[in-house]
Order: sequence, then C-alpha cells, then structure tokens
Amino acid sequence: MEKVIIIRYSEIHLKGKNRGYFERVFALNIEKSLKGFKHETRRLSGRYLVEGFDEFQTDALLERLKRVFGIHSMSVALKVKSDMDLIFAAAKEVCSESGTFKVVSHRADKTFPLNSMQISAEIGGRLISCMDKISVDVHEPHFTINIDVRENGTSLVFNEFFKGAGGMPVGTSGKGLLLISGGIDSPVAGHMIAKRGMNIDCIHFHSYPYTNMQARDKVIELARVLSKYTCGTRLNIISVTHIQEEIHKKCNGEYMVTLLRRFMMRIAEKCALKSGAQCLITGESLGQVASQTVEGITSSNSVIKKLPVLRPLCGFDKDEIIERSRAIGAYDISVQPYEDCCTVFLPKHPVIKPTMENILSEEGKLDVEGLIDEAMQSLEVITL
Ligand code: ATP
Ligand code: MG
Repeated sequence: MEKVIIIRYSEIHLKGKNRGYFERVFALNIEKSLKGFKHETRRLSGRYLVEGFDEFQTDALLERLKRVFGIHSMSVALKVKSDMDLIFAAAKEVCSESGTFKVVSHRADKTFPLNSMQISAEIGGRLISCMDKISVDVHEPHFTINIDVRENGTSLVFNEFFKGAGGMPVGTSGKGLLLISGGIDSPVAGHMIAKRGMNIDCIHFHSYPYTNMQARDKVIELARVLSKYTCGTRLNIISVTHIQEEIHKKCNGEYMVTLLRRFMMRIAEKCALKSGAQCLITGESLGQVASQTVEGITSSNSVIKKLPVLRPLCGFDKDEIIERSRAIGAYDISVQPYEDCCTVFLPKHPVIKPTMENILSEEGKLDVEGLIDEAMQSLEVITL
C-alpha cells in the first residue's frame, strides 16, 4: 500500500483547444515546485498523481503544492492493486474510528467485476461489520471514503480533499513586471496577477545610502515569497538616489512623490520592454494615500507609452489586503520597519490633487532622459 497525492486541476479544462499547452505548463510548474523531493509525477485522465516519495515528506510536498496555481484540490490517497480485499484494507486504513460515513466509488476501469454502487455497498458493509462505532449516513456523513478504480489495475482510496490555490498555471498568461516596494500591497498585487497565470518579474527602486541594506534585504525576501508562487522570479534593483536628490534640489518639495512616481513608471516600462514583460503591475489602491488619488494615478499613468498598467488592488480596503498578505506569507516581512525610497526627502504636505500643468512645470526643471539613463546604469538583477 503506497501513499500518493492526487492533484485535480481547476480552470485548465475550460481551455478547449489550448488544453494541451495549459497542461504542459501546469505539469512543468508542479515539477518545479517539487524540486528537491524524490518523487514521480504521472498523468491520469483529468488529474495528476504524485508517487514514489518518502511518506514522512507528505506534508512538505503538500505545502509546496498548495502554492501551485491551477490546482483545484488535492487528496492524499492509498494506492493498491484493484482487488476488493486490498481496497478494503486501504479503506480500513483511512476510516475514522467512530461517526457516520458513506463510501463513494468511481470506476474508470469498466472491466472491474463490480460496478461503483456494488463496490461502495460491499466496502461499506465490510467496514461496518468489523468496526462497531461507525454507521452509514449517505446524506450528512461525518466522513466519506472515496474509492477510485483506475484503468491501469490500481485503485486509489482516500478520505480528504485539500483546497488548492486555484487560478491558472503561471506562464499561461504572459509576463508582467511588478513594481515591488517594501510595503504590504505590492507583493499581494503580484500574487493576484500570478494567480491568473502570469509570470512575474519584479523591479524595486531604492535610495541607498539614504535607505539601508536591511530595506534591500527585505525586498529580496518579499520577492522570494512571491517566487514560491511563480516558480521563480527576476528582481531588478535600481537606484533612484540621484533622482530624488535632483528633485530635492530643483523642484517644489511638495511634488517629490508625484515626480518620483513618474520616474519609476518610466524606468519600469523601459525595463519591461527590454525583458519582454507585457504589462506593469502596481500595488496601488484607490485613495489609500495622496499619490493614489485618481489625479495621482493619472499623473503616474500618463508617462507610460506602450504597456497597460494592472492595479489589482484598486478596489480593496487595507484590511482585505492585509488578510491576503498574511495568507501568502508576506505580512511579517512587509511590516519590518525599514523604509524604501519614498520616505526619504518626504514633504510634510505632498500635493494631493496635482494638476498636470504644475507637474509638467516642476518636471521641466529636470533632465528627465539623463536621469533615467543614469538610473538604468545602476540596474542589478537578482534571480530568485
Ligand atoms: P506598498 O504597500 O506596495 O508599498 P503603498 O500603499 O505604500 O504600497 P505607495 O507607497 O504609494 O503605496 O506605492 C504604490 C505602489 O507604487 C506600490 O504598491 C508599488 O507598486 C509602487 N512602488 C512604491 N514604491 C516603490 C519602490 N521603492 N520600488 C518599486 N515600486 C514601488
Ligand atoms: Mg509603500
């Protein structure tokens, strides 16, 4: 009797003609997520089977698989030869000691001598006769024993379904570039878009030495958390110190954040186009802070020439974002107190509703292209 993991997909089956492609990407992502574990993965109709792993590593495998988008649900099952005595032995193994239950059988192997109703009735009957604290309730049972008689002469017996991450396999919806700060929001935004099947690269802007190395490490850690869901990521790190200094020197201080945002967006678009990313992703949420009013967003959006900007958090409240941040394992890192660049030279009163006229007038005092080129020189790429 061997322990195996059954993986069921979610939306992949919707993808008609592209199904083969979706399944290949999905299978590859499963393999990437299980890297380092001894195992084999086999495809059955409509599901995958992970087998040949060390039993004591079952939970660790499930932990990894819970982060793979495209998985609808999983079960840990006992695999036996399709023989009623062996199926019964497995059913007994997964059966609770007391409570009401039912047996649900599925027979893919139509040559198996009993049909699914007969399998359920016989296994259920045998269980009752040897365990005195259980009884059948087909409507609201405390637990269900599932028996799946496969075509290849083996049967799977299990009693639990674990929820998968849902969504679509990462890599089936192209690639985006996430502007990642050290805050709570951007990693959540990246996670949401990855869930829709998008590969994510990250870009982070820092103001070293005004910000410290811990701030940088924090962002690397956040990108690493994200990379667990995206089967890896590339983190682009760029210095905007000289840009902040120049704004500080030449422009009205109230425009620091507004102007810096526009630089970030321009540089991000440049990097995205260079690396084949098809959109930018930010953690902006409408009205959360001064730069995220619709006027603020208009200002930062208007410098983008070619790519769409996805803002998946726009309609979320902060508590909803925090809940998601906790769920993906980013929160404890995000709340570490190291500042990213935006707080350096921060004005006491940033403009809340900047007019384009004033922004352009302030920006006119700067050598925009020159500052961007200088920033691009500082590009450092970390593969996670
Ligand atoms: P976050 O929690 O993601 O930091 P926030 O609520 O602090 O967001 P802002 O500081 O206004 O909001 O940032 C809005 C978005 O701009 C961020 O979600 C992120 O996508 C991008 N951004 C801000 N600072 C940086 C940075 N230093 N590097 C890269 N992107 C950044
Ligand atoms: Mg922030």
